[in-house]
Amino acid sequence: MGKAGDTDEQMNKDGFRVHHLSEHDFNLDSISSNAIKVVRRLNSQGHQAYLVGGCVRDLLLDREPKDFDVATSALPEEVRQLFRNSNLIGRRFRLVHIRYGREIIEVATFRGSGDSNVQQKSSHQVHEDGRILRDNVYGSMNEDAIRRDFTINALYLDPEQETVLDRIGGMTDHDNRIIRLIGEPEERYREDPVRLLRAVRFSSKLDFEIEPATLQPIAFLGALLQSVPQARLYEEILKLFLSGHAQKTYAGLCRNDLLRHLFPQTDQLLNQAGNESLQQLIELALKSTDSRVRDNKPVTAYFLFAAFLWGSIEKTILDLAGSENEYLAIQNAMNEVLRLQAKAVSLPKRASIPMREVWTLQSRFRQRRGGKPHRLLEHPRFRAAYDFILLRAETGAIQPEIAEWWTRFQSVSAAQRRKMTQPSQRKPRRKKAVSDEQASVVSKPGDV
Ligand code: ATP
Ligand code: MG
Repeated sequence: MGKAGDTDEQMNKDGFRVHHLSEHDFNLDSISSNAIKVVRRLNSQGHQAYLVGGCVRDLLLDREPKDFDVATSALPEEVRQLFRNSNLIGRRFRLVHIRYGREIIEVATFRGSGDSNVQQKSSHQVHEDGRILRDNVYGSMNEDAIRRDFTINALYLDPEQETVLDRIGGMTDHDNRIIRLIGEPEERYREDPVRLLRAVRFSSKLDFEIEPATLQPIAFLGALLQSVPQARLYEEILKLFLSGHAQKTYAGLCRNDLLRHLFPQTDQLLNQAGNESLQQLIELALKSTDSRVRDNKPVTAYFLFAAFLWGSIEKTILDLAGSENEYLAIQNAMNEVLRLQAKAVSLPKRASIPMREVWTLQSRFRQRRGGKPHRLLEHPRFRAAYDFILLRAETGAIQPEIAEWWTRFQSVSAAQRRKMTQPSQRKPRRKKAVSDEQASVVSKPGDV
C-alpha cells in the first residue's frame, strides 16, 4: 500500500490529496455495482458523489465491505427525485436510502460545520454540555470531511476516476493503522459521546492503534455516555458485540474503563475477587458469538447480555433470599438487575424478554425425571437456555454430568428419552421429584 509522500499523490483544487488506486493494491471489483450506479447518476446530474466511511476502509484493507455509503453535494430532496427506489429517512440528519433488492445504498448530503452558514444556523443546536442535538446543516465537501469522526473515516473514493481523496491525512493514518479523531479530541467526544465507543470498536475491529491524544480522554469521559439517547446507545452496543470482534472489543472497553458505563453491575462484580467464573462465562459467550459470526450463523445480543448479567442475577437471588420460593426469587432478582441495568443502558424488550426466559429456564435443567424434561425440550427458548447451561458447565459452575445428560437426551430416540426420564428405581418417585424441584438455580459450593 502507498504511503503519504509517494509519487502518486497530487492536490485537487479543494485541497484534497488525490491518491490513485492503481498504486494501491486495490480491488475495484469488490465495489457494489449499485453503489457505482448511484455515484454515476449523481455525477451525470452535475453533483459531486463519492463512496465514504466503512466501505472505503474495508476496500483499502482488501476486505469485503458490508455496505456502501455515498456522500454527495446533492440535497436529500434532489437525490430522492433522481431515484425512484429511494426513501428519505432520519431526523437527526436526513439521509436517502436507495434500495436495490436487499441492498441499500445510503446517501448523505455533505454536512457543514454548523457555524459557517448563518441562514441555516437555527438547525444546528448545541446542548450546554457540548453535545450536538440537531445537525441538519449542509456544507461543502471540505466541511464534510472535517465533520467526520476519525481521519480514516474521512476518505472519499471516486470509483469513476479510481482515486481516493483525502483532506486530513486519513490515508497516512490508514497506512500506519492509526485511529485519530479529527480536531480536538475532548471537544469531539463531548459533541457526540458515541465516538468514545466508536474509537474502541474500530480499533478492535481493524486492529488499529488509537493514537495517544485520541485515547487519553476516553477513560475519563465515559460518563458522557449517559446523555446519549437510549435507542442510539443500544444500537451502538449491538455493533460493538455482534460484528464478529466481540472478544477484542470487550477487552478494549474494559481497558478504557467504559464497561462500567454500559454494564455497571457486571463491571462491579468483575472488580471483586472470587468472580472468576463470571469472567470465564463472559469470555466464553463472547467467543461463541464471534465464532458464530465467522460461520455466518445468526447471533443474538440477548444471549451475550444474559451472560454479562448472570453473576448479578445469582448474587441478587442470594441477597434477596428469604422465605420466597425459587420462582419468585429469580423473578425478583431479574426485576432488580434489569432495573439497575436500565440506569446505564436500558435493554429493549426484544432482548430482555428472551433473556429472562434463558435465566428462568436454568433451574429446570436439574429436573431430569418424569414429564418435565420433555416439556422443557419443547420450550421455544430451550436451545438458547441449553447453550447457556453448556457455557456454565464449562466454567465449572454446573456439574458437567447435567450438561452431558441434556446433550444425550436431545440426540436419542423418543423411546430412549422416556427411559432416561423414568423415575429412579431405588428412590420413591415423589421424594425424587421433590428433591429435583428444590434444586436451586444458583451455583452452590456443592454443585461443582
Ligand atoms: P461501520 O459501518 O463498519 O460501522 P462506518 O465508518 O461506515 O463503519 P457508519 O456509522 O456507517 O460507520 O458511518 C459512516 C460514516 O459517517 C463514518 O465513516 C464517519 O465518516 C461518519 N460518522 C458516523 N458516525 C459519526 C459520528 N458519530 N461523528 C462523526 N462522523 C460520523
Ligand atoms: Mg457504514
